[in-house]
Amino acid sequence: MGSQRGAEFKIGRTVKGAENMKKKMHTALVLAAGQGKRMNSSIQKQFLELGGKPVLFYSLQCFQNSPLIQDIILVTGEESISYCEKEIVERFGFSKVSRVIAGGKERYDSVYAGLLACGETEYVLIHDGARPFITEEILERGCNEVRKTGACVVGMPVKDTIKIADAAGAVESTPDRSRIWMVQTPQIFRYSLIKEAHESIRKKDMTGITDDAMVIEQETGTKVILSEGSYQNIKITTPEDLAIAEAFLGNK
Ligand code: C5P
Repeated sequence: MGSQRGAEFKIGRTVKGAENMKKKMHTALVLAAGQGKRMNSSIQKQFLELGGKPVLFYSLQCFQNSPLIQDIILVTGEESISYCEKEIVERFGFSKVSRVIAGGKERYDSVYAGLLACGETEYVLIHDGARPFITEEILERGCNEVRKTGACVVGMPVKDTIKIADAAGAVESTPDRSRIWMVQTPQIFRYSLIKEAHESIRKKDMTGITDDAMVIEQETGTKVILSEGSYQNIKITTPEDLAIAEAFLGNK
C-alpha cells in the first residue's frame, strides 16, 4: 500500500550520527487523504491552489524548514500518491518526506496508517494538510508543552459565545466561554502513547472520533495540554476559507 521513496530523497535528510538514525525525536505526520466534500470542488481541499501553490505545500514547507523535525510521513489517497510524489515532494524538494503512503476511509484510519509507517520516533506531530498556516513558533511551543505529559494539542480560545443545542435545534445551555478552546493541529504525542491509544480504540466503537486528543482522552488517563496556536491557523474546509487564506497570504 505504501510507496518507499527513492534513495535520492534520503540523501537530502539531515541525520546527524548513527543514534538519530535509530530513533528520531520528532516525526511529522501530515494528513492529506480527505475527500473534502464540504468544498464542493472536484479537487481535494489540500491540493487546491493557494497563492499559486497547493494548500499542502505550505505546511510541508514549515516542517521541512523546522530544525525540530527529522522526518515527514505524508498520508494521502491511494490515487494521489504519485501526484504527491512528483508534483509536491519532488517539485518543491521536500527532502525530509521519507514516505508517501495511502490513508484510509476516516481520518483516524489515515492517522493509524501513518503511525504504522513512522518507525522509531520519540514524538509524532499529527497535522491536517489542509492547515497551511503553521509556524515555527507554534511547533516550538507545542514540542515544549508535550514534554509535560506526552500529549498536547494546539488551539486557541474561542472568540464567539458557544451554545449547546438540543435535538430539536433549540439552545440547551451556554458553556463558560473563558474555558472553551477551538482545537487545531498539530496535535503532538509521545509516539508509544498515541499508538497504543489508537490500537485500543480500534477494538471499540469509533463513531464521532474527529481528532487525536479524543483518542487519548478516551483511552488513557493522560492529561492533554492545550498549547497556543494562532487565529490564522485555519483549516481550509469551505470555499470562503480559501478566500480568507488568500488574504492571510497577501498580508505576509
Ligand atoms: O475532514 P477533516 O476536515 O476533519 O480533515 C482534516 C484533515 O484530515 C485533512 O487534511 C484531510 O485531508 C485529512 N483526512 C485524511 N483521511 C481521511 C479524512 C481526512 O487524511 N479519511
